[in-house]
Amino acid sequence: MKINKDYDAIIIGSGMGGMSAGAMLAKDGYKVLILEKAHTLGGCSSSYYRKGHIFESGATTLIGFDDHQPLWKLEKETGIEIPREEITPSMAVWIDGEMITRYKNREQWIQECTRIFGNESAQKAFWTEAFKVADLVWKVSLNNPFFPPLKFSEWGQLAINNSPWDIWVLKYAFKSVQTVMKKFGVDTPKFKRFVDEQLMITAQAKSEETPFLFGAAGITYTNYSNYYVPGGLLEMINSIRAFIQKNGGALHTKEGVEKVMQNENGFTVHTKNKRNETFTYQAPLLISNIPVWNMQDITVGEMREYFMSEAKDFDEAWGAITLGIATDDVYLAEFPLHHQVHLSEGETVPHTNSDSIFISMSKSGDTLRTKKHMRTLNVSTHASPEYWYSLNEDYDTAKQQVQDFIVETLRRKLPGFSRAQIDVIHTATPVTWENWVYRKKGRVGGIPQSMARSLLKWTPNETPFKGLYLCGDTTFPGQGIPGVTLSGINVYSRIKKNHH
Ligand SMILES: Cc1cc2nc3c(=O)[nH]c(=O)nc-3n(C[C@H](O)[C@H](O)[C@H](O)COP(=O)(O)OP(=O)(O)OC[C@H]3O[C@@H](n4cnc5c(N)ncnc54)[C@H](O)[C@@H]3O)c2cc1C
Repeated sequence: MKINKDYDAIIIGSGMGGMSAGAMLAKDGYKVLILEKAHTLGGCSSSYYRKGHIFESGATTLIGFDDHQPLWKLEKETGIEIPREEITPSMAVWIDGEMITRYKNREQWIQECTRIFGNESAQKAFWTEAFKVADLVWKVSLNNPFFPPLKFSEWGQLAINNSPWDIWVLKYAFKSVQTVMKKFGVDTPKFKRFVDEQLMITAQAKSEETPFLFGAAGITYTNYSNYYVPGGLLEMINSIRAFIQKNGGALHTKEGVEKVMQNENGFTVHTKNKRNETFTYQAPLLISNIPVWNMQDITVGEMREYFMSEAKDFDEAWGAITLGIATDDVYLAEFPLHHQVHLSEGETVPHTNSDSIFISMSKSGDTLRTKKHMRTLNVSTHASPEYWYSLNEDYDTAKQQVQDFIVETLRRKLPGFSRAQIDVIHTATPVTWENWVYRKKGRVGGIPQSMARSLLKWTPNETPFKGLYLCGDTTFPGQGIPGVTLSGINVYSRIKKNHH
């Protein structure tokens, strides 16, 4: 058996977590190899071509470039320039025919909340607290690459890296968003409905289940700079790919990792490509960017037991139903690019428990994404993977029913859509998702926030196995492009500390 020993670090998966770790290591001269099972790089933050149009694979909104946020750090450290344009406003939310504009400007946003939900002083106090907590969370998250602490010395590091004046914020790890809403007197049914659906985008859980420490950053993400990548998020991934290659790294697509073994020199990694050819690599460092529940299938012995134990509490993670739709450009030029549309009270998307749908449009005139005078729309909603896997012969009918319902809802609730001619439409369920990014059961979007899980229980970016590190949305600090980018940066920091 020929063993390739050319690399210092092997990365399993090319999601934004793996790409960030790879870029940070490559800038310091590590020779990295990224192994990607799919035919395209980027996983849940990527793009794909369908019948003349480019659609986003999953993520559509992009934040994290403001000072001291993870993508700011990635660009600053590597010199990579991710192509992007700032968008404003960040989003529109539609409830019962009323449009709520999610302005970036904080004062303007509080005024908008007062217009919709009333009680100006209470709204102002609630959002002022949320901004204070969110700003601090962003600041401390980049300062603490060794969180959750694994060793005594890392607890010491926490004390050194953080100001005692910031400790007040920790109380919010134990208070739900709902509790804080009550405290500030903004817990009306209408406001709760709004906050719950906003949290489902970033926290994957509602206000009673999301600690305010995380929820504050989740509900204020539209108040930081939001970006659009012309041509699609694959262009973000491509800019990082070019940097890694320029610095001596390699990226193999269509080559999946089948088995990982630890030995005295590090790790042996066995792969298979789409032509069923097999390859073996050996490297001192191994970084997994795939979910912890996938790792248990490619490891053995103690490593397998470790991943089984890390995954055992997360049987309830979400899946997604996503639609790619291309229509003629009938929308107003100043129409926001991102929309959250609430269904009518009591209504849910069929075959899901979802109360809202999220729509992201390509920019008018972005001919890298679609033809002239056309727009692409990416639509997503939450779904239970277990349900979709249980459908068997009813699967196609259920999928069609969801698609028809969503098209009908867009006609009723998204201005312009009823006049649009649909050129292309296709729908993906958790079953499709598993075939696209190989995430077991098609579970995407990381691990839902929960009041029952302490911050210290997050899967850390370092494992008990020397040289094995973890990034991606099932590890600390969780889902979203900024979150997984931070996980990749944390892996780099831990490697620099542990292996000189
Ligand atoms: C519908 C949807 C909408 C979202 N919207 C947003 C948004 O607007 N903004 C935002 O910031 N976040 C959003 N998210 C979340 C965000 O996309 C993810 O949290 C993030 O992209 C996950 O990155 P990751 O690094 O964990 O890995 P992933 O993107 O999951 O990548 C893992 C990679 O590993 C590969 N792989 C799997 N198994 C193997 C193997 N055995 N060998 C080799 N490769 C393998 C996969 O093919 C995949 O490319 C959304 C997610 C979804 C699903």
